[in-house]
Amino acid sequence: MYKLISRLGVRNSLRVNKAGIASASLPAPVTEPEIRHTKIFINNEWRNSASSKTFKTINPATGAVIAEVEEGGKADVDLAVQAAHEAFKFGSPWRRMDASDRGVLLNRLADLIERDSVYLASLLTIDNGKTFSQSYAVEVPGCVKTLRYYAGFADKNHGKTIPADGDIFCYTRHEPVGVCGQIIPWNFPLMLLGWKIGPALALGNVVVIKPAEQTPLTTLYVAELCKEAGFPPGVVNVVPGFGPSAGGAIVDNPLVDKVSFTGSTEVGLHILRNSSSSNLKRVTLELGGKSPNIILKDVDMKFAVESSHQGLFFNQGQVCCAGSRSFVDASIYDEFVEKSAARADRRIVGNPFDPRTEQGPQIDESQLNKILELVESGKKEGAKLVAGGSRIGSSGYYMQPTVFADVKDEMRIAKEEIFGPVQQILKFKDMDELIERANATPYGLAASIFTKDIESALYLIQGIRAGTVWVNCSNVLKSQTPFGGYKMSGFGRECGEYALQSYTEVKTVTIRSPMKSS
Ligand code: ADP
Repeated sequence: MYKLISRLGVRNSLRVNKAGIASASLPAPVTEPEIRHTKIFINNEWRNSASSKTFKTINPATGAVIAEVEEGGKADVDLAVQAAHEAFKFGSPWRRMDASDRGVLLNRLADLIERDSVYLASLLTIDNGKTFSQSYAVEVPGCVKTLRYYAGFADKNHGKTIPADGDIFCYTRHEPVGVCGQIIPWNFPLMLLGWKIGPALALGNVVVIKPAEQTPLTTLYVAELCKEAGFPPGVVNVVPGFGPSAGGAIVDNPLVDKVSFTGSTEVGLHILRNSSSSNLKRVTLELGGKSPNIILKDVDMKFAVESSHQGLFFNQGQVCCAGSRSFVDASIYDEFVEKSAARADRRIVGNPFDPRTEQGPQIDESQLNKILELVESGKKEGAKLVAGGSRIGSSGYYMQPTVFADVKDEMRIAKEEIFGPVQQILKFKDMDELIERANATPYGLAASIFTKDIESALYLIQGIRAGTVWVNCSNVLKSQTPFGGYKMSGFGRECGEYALQSYTEVKTVTIRSPMKSS
């Protein structure tokens, strides 16, 4: 059976948990962090919502209410957008600031997040349910490093001089796009905040951020740190609230120049449609996935099983690029299934503040129910349940680590994004058939290949239509490496130098430049 550990006792230090997250000692978390900010952040000030409405943010480990948060709606979003618009006006302090000083501010913000890393990681763990080890060792540094990475780019967004025909001098200026609406999901609230504000602010844009309604607390705290770092009023604004109302108001507002969205493909399609009908906003979308995780016959079995396990179960399976379709060579299929089921059974589920815990709760009840419904569909459609399959207990939203074998391409569990701790294992015999099947999905976010055979790896890398291909690793997301989708996994890239393009307008300047004096 899977291991469920106490929801109460918390030890202060950790050597290594099975997810391999931390090798050094972790600091003691703050298991009941004080909630300092629950309001709407506009113009460097905290405000109540225009409607006086609030919403509850819940601790998924217990189901208890953590805090009431001001619920931003259209009126609040419009105010935030207006503030951002003013901050972006030609001649404003932000527009006149030296590019290198924007880098200084971003570095200062990174320092402040690092200063408060234990508090922020603890806040993230109670708001999201992810393990403290992951909040502290993955999310906080994921945000900090990305801010520092883009801080360095602030004064390096170079244009070009163009050897154009005729007596002209032509050059390009790389200018900020303007007001950027940034809509963030709940699965990586801090890391993705860094991915969004890092390039936007480095290049001189202004932002209106809408955190996910399930996880507003860390974004609100970082808003206060933006003020402390010295960002001028209106440059960073945060409006907590729900998707269709607060998110929709960002998408519909004609003063918003660009929307950057991370979330479901369904909402991404809606955002693309509405962005074009309001004012042809620039749009970048990072959406869902159903990523193949390919195991060739020459692999080291122990390594392949463990890596595939982490590639799917990391972050409670709530990862858009999770390796959710494991295609395993027929000659090693049975052994892979047996060992994967045993590994899932050993996975430690429980209190996310306990350093031994590998898996905390799912984000909320509706997400848990969606997972359970898909598990039922898998059973009905004839997949073989070899591990887990049920909810754990009734307080908190815990799910057993679940593994299905004998999965067929046409089953719902092989086609739909489950976004939970449910691994699907499929069998393949031939490489070309494998490429066809791996690509037979509307998604194209990522893929993993496990093999020691370089020629097979290179063949698969070329054949697979996905924005990222990992070889002998998975879920490797770094500030420097571009990330984004093919097909219905979206477009545009976050992280790396490529992300600069989505926050830049190119202005061509052409100056008459006669070769002779007149
Ligand atoms: P998930 O299904 O993982 O919750 P969503 O795509 O629903 O992902 O949500 C991701 C983010 O998009 C959240 O911040 C959510 O509030 C926001 N959102 C949801 N619906 C809309 C919408 N219609 N317009 C704008 N933003 C939305």
